[in-house]
Amino acid sequence: MDQLWFYEKHTRGYGVHWKVKKVLHTEKTRFQELSVIDTVEWGKTLVLDGNIQVTERDEFIYHEMIAHIAMNSHPHPQKILIIGGGDGGTAREVLKHDSVQVVDLVEIDERVVENSKIYLPTMACAFNDSRLKLHIEDGIKFVQDTSQSYDLVIVDSSDPIGPAVELYSSRFYQDVYQCLRQDGMIAVQSESPVFYQDIFVKVFQNLSSVFPVVKVCLAPIMTYTAGPWSFTLGSKKRDPARIADDKKVIDGLKYYNGDLHRSAFILPQFIKDMLR
Ligand code: SAM
Repeated sequence: MDQLWFYEKHTRGYGVHWKVKKVLHTEKTRFQELSVIDTVEWGKTLVLDGNIQVTERDEFIYHEMIAHIAMNSHPHPQKILIIGGGDGGTAREVLKHDSVQVVDLVEIDERVVENSKIYLPTMACAFNDSRLKLHIEDGIKFVQDTSQSYDLVIVDSSDPIGPAVELYSSRFYQDVYQCLRQDGMIAVQSESPVFYQDIFVKVFQNLSSVFPVVKVCLAPIMTYTAGPWSFTLGSKKRDPARIADDKKVIDGLKYYNGDLHRSAFILPQFIKDMLR
């Protein structure tokens, strides 16, 4: 049988080939091209508009980092808002914390949730948790209209194209600020400082224009092939680089631990220089 390869174009001069066992599903939703492919190296993989979102094999790194850094720097996070995250992986990690009472997950594209439930059950299992409330709507509008207040807002969005563009703006961050409690925090995936330096720096600047404390941490995500991946946290009061006093770090995780929480904020010089 002919070999099947998925070609992921990162920049004008760089792309990656993924050997594919089977194309499990593909459709054009109201918002984006959506595919689920079963890859030889990384297992089942969600692709949106040609960009890899999550793979079965390495999703634990991204989802543990985007969830547990923020969850552990807050002493008692109870109400969490997740914008995006329609595969369920981030919510799965957040729901591991006993302090959590409510997770509002706001995903614009219902087809991402439905396909994740079929093809990515190890992530979409979060949708079975009674504490999770799924809202199929635009996260930008949700934070503008909501009267709810949250301990944490996690923005697990796709890349800044299509419906996600405004999720990287200072206007959106201002609206998030308004729906955070007095010691609340926002955690966002802020792209690759190597390939998307302009977006990475802009997110830092936009968050810094709204939050008094803004810090960047890094993690190596094997399938985001541009070296370190960044997560940027904006905080009203607390230090995201510091695990809250008396916090019991959850056992049984695969990537995150207490030592790593602290070390993830130690940045290489070239990235520190970008943020000056
Ligand atoms: N973990 C993946 C990553 O690292 O890039 C992304 C997770 S998830 C697949 C990203 C989600 O953000 C997509 O399902 C997309 O539909 C959703 N999204 C994009 N723009 C949105 C918006 N304005 N409001 C809510 N969800 C949005």
